[in-house]
Amino acid sequence: MLKIPTVAANVDDLATWSKYKKKMCDYCKGTCCSLPVEVKPVDLVRMGAIDAFELEENMKGIFKRLSKQKIVEHFHAKTTTFTLARMANGDCLYLDSSSRRCSIYEKRPDTCRNHPRIGPRAGYCAFIAKKP
Ligand code: SF4
Repeated sequence: MLKIPTVAANVDDLATWSKYKKKMCDYCKGTCCSLPVEVKPVDLVRMGAIDAFELEENMKGIFKRLSKQKIVEHFHAKTTTFTLARMANGDCLYLDSSSRRCSIYEKRPDTCRNHPRIGPRAGYCAFIAKKP
């Protein structure tokens, strides 16, 4: 049986994170979706934010456009890495505020697919229980 952590994590303190177990997400408010999410151009294509042909274009121009559309908030030119925009409360722009689920789950970026296997603390997540 799944044992739900009773103490809420402090997102910024990795020591308070819980060991990830299957089905845990059903009870979590989706704290991982308030962490900064780095995405690559191929993620943006899968997400439908850019077209595949745009992969050949200058990514700085793409960043300007996506930034205006409030889809991304940072761009690191050296590694061609974007950071997804977040809402005022820190939630990812794709997080559904009532269900606390990803609204683009099938198309979500690799960073999200790999969490918590790869992340700030591999195998652990910042579990905070959903409000009943
Ligand atoms: S894209 Fe989806 S899974 Fe990834 S952080 Fe945003 S809401 Fe969460």
